[in-house]
Amino acid sequence: MSEPSIFTRILQGEIPSEIIAETENAFAIRDIAPKAPVHLLVIPKTPQYRDVVELAAGDPALLAEVVGLANTLAGEHTDGEFRLVFNTGAAAGQTVFHVHAHVLGGGLTEGSLG
Ligand code: 5GP
Repeated sequence: MSEPSIFTRILQGEIPSEIIAETENAFAIRDIAPKAPVHLLVIPKTPQYRDVVELAAGDPALLAEVVGLANTLAGEHTDGEFRLVFNTGAAAGQTVFHVHAHVLGGGLTEGSLG
C-alpha cells in the first residue's frame, strides 16, 4: 500500500492544520504557502482519486460537493468572486496526488491566470 497523502495525514490529525470547514465527504484547510490573499484547499476525504479527471469520472457527486464547499468558503472569505484551480499532472504543477481544489481570491491580479 502506498503512503497516506499529506491531506489524509492532516485529516487524521497526524499533521497539524486547522480544518476550517467540513462536509460529509470533503474538508478545507488554508494552503501552507498561499499564492493569493485568500488561498484555501478543498479536498475530498477519500484519497482514492488522484486528480479532478479521475474524480469527475468516478464520483461526479463528490466533485459537485467539493465545488459547493469551495463556493461556500469563497462567500465567507472573499468578495464572492474567486478562482478555482485543479492542477492536473506533475508538469502542470500538481505535487499532491490526492485531488484538491485551490480556492484563490481576495485581490487577484485583474485578468491574470498567472
Ligand atoms: P498542488 O501543487 O498539488 O496543486 O497543491 C498542493 C498544495 O498543498 C500546495 O499549494 C502546497 O502549498 C500545499 N501544502 C503542501 N503541504 C501542506 C501542508 O502540510 N499543509 C497545508 N496546509 N498545505 C500544504
